Amino acid sequence: MPADIPADRLPFLPFALPEIGDDEINEVVDTLKSGWVTTGPKARRFEGDFAAFLGDATRGEALHCVAVNSATAGLHLALEALGIGPGDEVITTTHTFTATAEVVRYLGADVKLVDIDPATLNIDPAAVEAAITPRTKAIMPVHYAGLAADMPALLSIARKHGLKVVEDAAHALPTTCGGKLVGTLDSDATVFSFYANKTITTGEGGMLVTRDAELAKRARVMRLHGMNRDAFDRFTATVPSWYYEVVAPGFKYNLTDIAAALGIHQLKRAIAFQAQREELAAAYDAALAGLPVILPPRAAPGDRHAWHLYVLRLADGARIERDRFIERLFDAGIGCSVHYIPLHLHPYWRDRYALTPAMFPHSQHAYERMLSLPLYTRMTVDDVQRVAETVRSALR
Ligand SMILES: *Cc1c(COP(=O)(O)O)cnc(C)c1O
Repeated sequence: MPADIPADRLPFLPFALPEIGDDEINEVVDTLKSGWVTTGPKARRFEGDFAAFLGDATRGEALHCVAVNSATAGLHLALEALGIGPGDEVITTTHTFTATAEVVRYLGADVKLVDIDPATLNIDPAAVEAAITPRTKAIMPVHYAGLAADMPALLSIARKHGLKVVEDAAHALPTTCGGKLVGTLDSDATVFSFYANKTITTGEGGMLVTRDAELAKRARVMRLHGMNRDAFDRFTATVPSWYYEVVAPGFKYNLTDIAAALGIHQLKRAIAFQAQREELAAAYDAALAGLPVILPPRAAPGDRHAWHLYVLRLADGARIERDRFIERLFDAGIGCSVHYIPLHLHPYWRDRYALTPAMFPHSQHAYERMLSLPLYTRMTVDDVQRVAETVRSALR
């Protein structure tokens, strides 16, 4: 922080900013000049790079990566390929963005929202097990803020009850769980987001990752109008290039080569980005220690937190309310946000499932006291000190 500028004249510190370098820009320009701007060679290369990135940590295990135009699309495709439909129930956390749950409704299935573990803010495995009914087909954990959900417990519950698991890994590149990268665990599918404020970005984009070749094949067909060429390519060497068959009413979920051009270079920086985020998070922890706040939970020893979000909670003894606290930060030129207004408070989810805050005491308690501070690679440790100083004065 430049010491000679009065605090109220410092430039606004945004909540989030992408970091796009010359490599990304040059690759996009190359794509634009190539004449191929929609899904093509760059999207295929990005898929291959993504599989290699994840595979490196698991010694080259076969992973299918399907590039899509959002994580929401990827989650939808994964559930569709798993055959989720009317009459089925899917369990997920109330402490998430609506995209996690809405895809269940796209398919006519029902959402069972459950509470979180207050220590981690991740879905509570005991609450998951208690919510299982004969209609339950799948569990969708979210690695909230970039901290892995309790996957050993969730996978064991899923195995015991014959349920599918689709991980919402929108925050979780490159998170590890038990030393393995999220994306290489024993779930049915894992979906990453490359939305503008995520840990790497393609503007809009996502990646569906699975070890299940059939699931990947179905997702590839359904991401582009339900058009199937592969079968003909295999059985009929003489099929003309213009020929395809529509095998289902598919979607328009393909990732463009323009977006993939960004992703190819963002992915190369994912580990370095994480190191920067972790350093900034550690600087926040040190600067905020001793205040009436609850610092974000840390990853288990030996594991990596992706640090998509730095979520601070005001302690019960804090002398200021969360909303007022956020106003104080904005007044000081600091962007912040709340991730998320829990689903049980939104009219659609509340009314459809007759939900009340009392059903989700831990998520509700956290929601009323939490906010997300700025955390991104273009910030400096000086920026963190400035935010921390404002937090300190707001709590006084
Ligand atoms: C961002 C986000 C999504 C959706 O990602 P898109 O790529 O924008 O579709 C889903 N779930 C969570 C938890 C998210 O934060």
